[in-house]
Amino acid sequence: MISKIVKITEMMYVPLTESIKVLYMLTVGRSFWICSIGGGTMAKRVAIIGAGVSGLTSIKCCLDEGLEPTCFERTSDIGGVWRFTEYVEKGRASTYKSMVSNTCKEMSAFADFPYPEDFPVFLPNAKLLEYLHLYTKHFNLRKYIQFQHVYSDLVEDVV
Ligand SMILES: Cc1cc2nc3c(=O)[nH]c(=O)nc-3n(C[C@H](O)[C@H](O)[C@H](O)COP(=O)(O)OP(=O)(O)OC[C@H]3O[C@@H](n4cnc5c(N)ncnc54)[C@H](O)[C@@H]3O)c2cc1C
Repeated sequence: MISKIVKITEMMYVPLTESIKVLYMLTVGRSFWICSIGGGTMAKRVAIIGAGVSGLTSIKCCLDEGLEPTCFERTSDIGGVWRFTEYVEKGRASTYKSMVSNTCKEMSAFADFPYPEDFPVFLPNAKLLEYLHLYTKHFNLRKYIQFQHVYSDLVEDVV
């Protein structure tokens, strides 16, 4: 499952503690998990980049496993691609205004959080975003997210 080892350079906008120097980066969709390691034992603190679908579920998974996640999201809100805006935000793709999901809600739902019954089977982007907000609220995930924090200059280390 661990795909790469990366090193975070001093150019990062987010300050890291001394203990987080060498990091495992796990690709989860288009977001990343970065787990600090020390002395061969996985440390408890986990950095997650991006509060889209992957980042939100990563926070939840960390909490389920007793880890301490901090999610860094470059924009001011959750949702990633599903948060439609009329304007372009640097570093974040957005759906178009009329976009409806092509995967049904039964197939798209998180295993531990079904869609509300009154939601349509194929979801307009605003409904999908609403679902992500419901998920975030239900599991109280927002407090683990630092908005308007950008991770940059992740450098892959050759190990
Ligand atoms: C037009 C379109 C239609 C789609 N339709 C469907 C569909 O019907 N069904 C389906 O299942 N999937 C669909 N997808 C796939 C969609 O990409 C996934 O559903 C899902 O939203 C991906 O989530 P993610 O968290 O991996 O990435 P994203 O949603 O892209 O979220 C990434 C987040 O990371 C943040 N970020 C990026 N870089 C940094 C950084 N350096 N520091 C801090 N934060 C950062 C971004 O701001 C963003 O919030 C569609 C995608 C598109 C573009």
